[in-house]
Amino acid sequence: MERDYDVVVAGAGPAGLQCARDVAARGYDVAVLEREDEDGFPSTSNKSTGGTFPSMMASFGIPDDVVMKFTDKVVLESPNSHYTQEHPGAVLEFADFKNFLVEDARDKGAEFLFGTQVAKPLVEDGTVTGVGCAGGDEITARLTVDATGPGAVLAQKVGVIELERTNQAVGVEYEYEGVNLNPEGYADLRGAMMLRLDHGIAPGGYAWIFHTGDDTAKVGVCYIQNERYHDFDDGNTIDDYLNEWLEDDPRFENAVRIDDSNHRGSAHIQEPGSMSTAGFMAVGDTVPSVDPVWGEGINKCMRSGRMAAVTADKCLTAGIDVSEETVSTYDDLWHEEVAPRVGSRLTMTRLLYLVSNDRYDRLMKDLNSADEETLKKANNGNKRAIMKLLHLRDIPTLLKFGKQRFTG
Ligand SMILES: Cc1cc2nc3c(=O)[nH]c(=O)nc-3n(C[C@H](O)[C@H](O)[C@H](O)COP(=O)(O)OP(=O)(O)OC[C@H]3O[C@@H](n4cnc5c(N)ncnc54)[C@H](O)[C@@H]3O)c2cc1C
Repeated sequence: MERDYDVVVAGAGPAGLQCARDVAARGYDVAVLEREDEDGFPSTSNKSTGGTFPSMMASFGIPDDVVMKFTDKVVLESPNSHYTQEHPGAVLEFADFKNFLVEDARDKGAEFLFGTQVAKPLVEDGTVTGVGCAGGDEITARLTVDATGPGAVLAQKVGVIELERTNQAVGVEYEYEGVNLNPEGYADLRGAMMLRLDHGIAPGGYAWIFHTGDDTAKVGVCYIQNERYHDFDDGNTIDDYLNEWLEDDPRFENAVRIDDSNHRGSAHIQEPGSMSTAGFMAVGDTVPSVDPVWGEGINKCMRSGRMAAVTADKCLTAGIDVSEETVSTYDDLWHEEVAPRVGSRLTMTRLLYLVSNDRYDRLMKDLNSADEETLKKANNGNKRAIMKLLHLRDIPTLLKFGKQRFTG
């Protein structure tokens, strides 16, 4: 099989699908290649909790019927304390969300080749000209977009991305019914997305409970394979950590796992270098785009898909110019529109996951007494606001972090 398109997108995740929606809406020929079969899609790629915010829903025209539960607050927990912020959100049924994106991209003119495993980039004179698939088929295009997620199937071979294992975050979750969302001594998690910082449960990462309706919730843990995790490493698998939490926490005393509700996957938490080259762009978790602090990937990935589509339009509008320089517009847009201040947020992430459980309790106290503007600015990576939340006792951690950073 040989086919030719304006744009070929490898991977039907949120990033690739949004890119295809936008490219198709501009009238270009676009094909999306997805390794899973359409029947039962998404299966292993149904990996996400799907916690998101109104800005994502509005920016990308996502309908309410893919939402399991609209939430009205975000809760942060530490071992002995918590902080609640009123903030509207939505917990998506991730599979419905992905299928909506497929249907909408199709309505706009995108072609889908399910059951197509992309294996390698095709390269001619330094320009990527399409993809080779398992089985030998070749698909050519003016522009090739790698949206295969953390596998980065094309980007690593093209040599634009080097994903490092020490920066890999892994996560697992299940859905449960019979969860007690408002027991004595805990935060009220009815209508909440809750993240828990607690090395006893998720060393070097965090755990979560996202309310999905009545007494049901998505419950999971993730950790970055960082130094803090290795301090605690006792040979437990990620599933062991989740199971121990479920056994120990009274909120799960009567909880029953809902069949077929497992979501699991990984993402890399690291600063991207270049994300493009002649004829080629990498989007979403391939880059990686996921917000390092809170793991919010959907919005970031969709935005990176959109910026790739904007770049494709620029490259294909007046004649065809897919030179490295013109395609690098995407890198500029990514840094401006997808993840501004990514360096500050990575610093915050490393600090957040290096500190002790006691410091997490103290952080909750600080958050409860800080003004909203400071918190908003700190979350956006504003250094002065971050400094306001730091204490003298943080200096050893900062030094340790600095040492790690400067010794690589
Ligand atoms: C457990 C967990 C919980 C999460 N919770 C949240 C959350 O609450 N909120 C949030 O915003 N984000 C969350 N995320 C992150 C978010 O899900 C990801 O950032 C997002 O899905 C990445 O989108 P993507 O399109 O870049 O990649 P992916 O979603 O990984 O999609 C990649 C696609 O490419 C396909 N593919 C892979 N290899 C090939 C190949 N060789 N050929 C063809 N196709 C291929 C895959 O099947 C898949 O469909 C979570 C992630 C995990 C793992």
